[in-house]
Amino acid sequence: MSLIDLAGLTQGSLMPIDFEEKVVIPKDYNSLEGCASVVFSGGLSKENGKFILSGKASASFKAACDFCLTEFDAELAFPICEIFVNGAEESLPPDDDAWRFSGNAIDFSEALRTNFLVNFPPSFICREGCKGLCSRCGQNLNEKSCDCQKGSEDFRFDNLRQLFSNEEV
Ligand SMILES: [Zn+2]
Ligand SMILES: [Zn+2]
Repeated sequence: MSLIDLAGLTQGSLMPIDFEEKVVIPKDYNSLEGCASVVFSGGLSKENGKFILSGKASASFKAACDFCLTEFDAELAFPICEIFVNGAEESLPPDDDAWRFSGNAIDFSEALRTNFLVNFPPSFICREGCKGLCSRCGQNLNEKSCDCQKGSEDFRFDNLRQLFSNEEV
């Protein structure tokens, strides 16, 4: 929970904000531990009764490469800009993009979680040019090569030889 006390934040001033949050990653997302550590660094300002959180976040978590299935440390960086409105201030026009809060503190957890999941990549690759796994024997081709490629050529020649020998009969 990233609850920030609003006392001391005056109109037009910027309050530096840094916090770290554990975010649970849903099951259908690619992650091995189901949890990411997300660090936010930025500031909170107050303008016309609205609170604006602005800054950048970086997340680190364990993911599996889509090509070679190897576990690796994934990093994700994304900007955050969210508006928060105190629900008690009914004089404000309705703003669908704004988050509502009550009292003298804002909890940024849900906004952070939402931003993280929106920016979550649909696929992962452990390194540039990952060679993946051999489709025949499953060998991780980043670690060593296998003999399948050579083998498949041999098979082709075997078939040809078979063909010729059949025609001779
Ligand atoms: Zn890989
Ligand atoms: Zn192979």
